Amino acid sequence: MNNLFTTFLIKYAEIGVKGRNRYIFEDALVTQIEHAMKDVDGEFAVHKTQGRIFVDCLSEYDFDEVVEALKRVFGISGICPVICLEDEGFDVLAEKVITYMDQAYPDKNMTFKVMARRARKNYPKNSMEINEDLGEKILHAFPEIKVDVHHPDVLLNVEIREKIYVYSKVIPGPGGMPIGTAGKAMLLLSGGIDSPVAGYMISKRGVKLEAVYFNAPPYTSERAKQKVVDLAKLVSKYSGPIRLHVINFTDIQLYIYDKCPHDELTIIMRRYMMRIAEHLANQNGCIGLITGESIGQVASQTMQSLMATNEVCEMPVYRPLIGFDKQEIVEISEKIDTYETSIQPYEDCCTIFVAKHPVTKPNLGVIRKHEKNLEEKIEELFQTAIETDEVIEIG
Ligand code: ATP
Ligand code: MG
Repeated sequence: MNNLFTTFLIKYAEIGVKGRNRYIFEDALVTQIEHAMKDVDGEFAVHKTQGRIFVDCLSEYDFDEVVEALKRVFGISGICPVICLEDEGFDVLAEKVITYMDQAYPDKNMTFKVMARRARKNYPKNSMEINEDLGEKILHAFPEIKVDVHHPDVLLNVEIREKIYVYSKVIPGPGGMPIGTAGKAMLLLSGGIDSPVAGYMISKRGVKLEAVYFNAPPYTSERAKQKVVDLAKLVSKYSGPIRLHVINFTDIQLYIYDKCPHDELTIIMRRYMMRIAEHLANQNGCIGLITGESIGQVASQTMQSLMATNEVCEMPVYRPLIGFDKQEIVEISEKIDTYETSIQPYEDCCTIFVAKHPVTKPNLGVIRKHEKNLEEKIEELFQTAIETDEVIEIG
């Protein structure tokens, strides 16, 4: 095998992961890593040994591809590529470590420290001796390099087990909690910039996602729906599989358009979206809703409008972007690679039915009164929308 690194040591933040929870956390992390590695070319085995997680590479692989996949697994704080050496005596070990240091750090103007751990006690040198003797050989090989035992630029870990493991680089992971360590929530996923980011942020806390998209054919095109499917796929690279519900919302929208004042259309429509989303959430074992709302971004997201849309749900509604500026949201969407898809110019159902001057401070009493205009048919339309739910399994 030509790859220098034969295994990856996975680091995870252990804060709040004590006692019994630790196993839940670790097992969920192993499952998520296994899931992420399925799409990577090559053969890999994920295992947990003495409280540490390793991804062993059993075949040739592409280093960047492996790192990219692991960087999307929530719960990982660092990824350490590890060299695995046969024990051929200390001098051979020193030679190999020097070759590794030479390749890994072309610029030797740096400080380092050796940190040896001797798990196999019959090794002829103890940890202190390995630190000192290996340190000396490295200093000798590279005159520019210096030792700093307190704040080294490079911490060279050497673990003596049946074989010898050497690693020094820690590639940052995404942090967060592994999917499966919290409950499941229903994401209201539109084709915009915000909702995919909102889904990403909540799933980063270990929450599994399900999603709902309100479609309005023929006012919206097949392309608009495809865009949402594409966005769900991109989010699922982080969150794991997502069941996407596509709800045909056209008849409800037309009915509201027919019966209610046009400046209140958006608010009333959004109240129905929330009601349907909550209904689907209850049917599918979700214990929260997620939206991409942010205070003041548009008329339907003033505090008064949020109060009006929030009123119809009993379930908690998670709005992770509530205090974010658009630019901050755009930056995350670029980072997670949803931005380019989000800005494709396919209209969603809201842009078709918007009034020129929507209310920005809806009065709840007035909204409730106008919703009474819908009494005759809305229950039936609501049921039909739910019964004709199209489910697409993503990821
Ligand atoms: P986004 O960029 O996420 O589309 P937005 O800035 O366009 O958000 P709104 O259209 O007011 O804002 O929607 C607010 C939130 O309501 C969205 O973030 C999303 O969670 C949900 N939402 C809006 N339209 C739809 C839709 N057609 N299907 C599913 N959810 C929707
Ligand atoms: Mg939108």
